[in-house]
Amino acid sequence: MLLFIYIFLLGLVVGSFANVVIYRVPRGWGIFWGRSACPNCRKKISWHDLIPVVSFFLLKAQCRQCRQPISWLYPAVELYSGTIFLLSFYFTNRAGVVDWLFTVFILESLFILALIDLKNFILPDSIMIVMIFGVLWYGIFEQVFSGYGFNIFSFNNFIGAAVLFSAFFLLWFLSRGTWLGLGDAKLAGLIGLIFGLWGGLIIIYGAIIAGTVAGLVLLASYRANLKTKLPLGTFISFSATAYIFLGQGILEKIKPLFFSVPFILK
Ligand SMILES: [Zn+2]
Repeated sequence: MLLFIYIFLLGLVVGSFANVVIYRVPRGWGIFWGRSACPNCRKKISWHDLIPVVSFFLLKAQCRQCRQPISWLYPAVELYSGTIFLLSFYFTNRAGVVDWLFTVFILESLFILALIDLKNFILPDSIMIVMIFGVLWYGIFEQVFSGYGFNIFSFNNFIGAAVLFSAFFLLWFLSRGTWLGLGDAKLAGLIGLIFGLWGGLIIIYGAIIAGTVAGLVLLASYRANLKTKLPLGTFISFSATAYIFLGQGILEKIKPLFFSVPFILK
């Protein structure tokens, strides 16, 4: 039980870091230097006001100095992070610590991309480059130490990356960037690299469904028109997150349709 509490607390701390990334990277600021400051009064925030979730409630959701309201999104990101730490620990329990950390790394990165795209309509290269390094590192580790299961150096994953990137790149090129951004093409390629061709196709399919449903809901509630831009990267990240937890089951169902089926979680 104590272990689960530690894992959840670790998730909260990482979620706090995710907040910093989500706030600073789109502004072009460094992540590791400079203490967090209130965006309104610029006063540096002391460590005891930076405790994940707890500080938000102790401060009654406002800056200690200027009473500027603090968004509920900050504790929400931290709680989400704690939850995925626990959930992925449960799901990868038998696969080992490295698989768990990698799953958490991918989930956390996808969540950061989703929120940045939702707020700023960009998918920063820096975050996707960090993801590629994480994927390569994990791939090498798996090859050296276990040699089975998820393998990013397989033909399937290579083809997944090439096909998804090319398809999205073509759509980007033909539409001159009006249907989707170049960042979406890069993310689609990354998804193919991580989840393989079939996994990647399922994720893109799920993203299109989720995007369509969201678009229709916004249209029906008059909060959008046909020209409203929707952040495709957010839906791809959302779909990939669902796939990590539900993909196994989806693949089992459609397995007879394919000769070989890729999966990320053993
Ligand atoms: Zn303030």
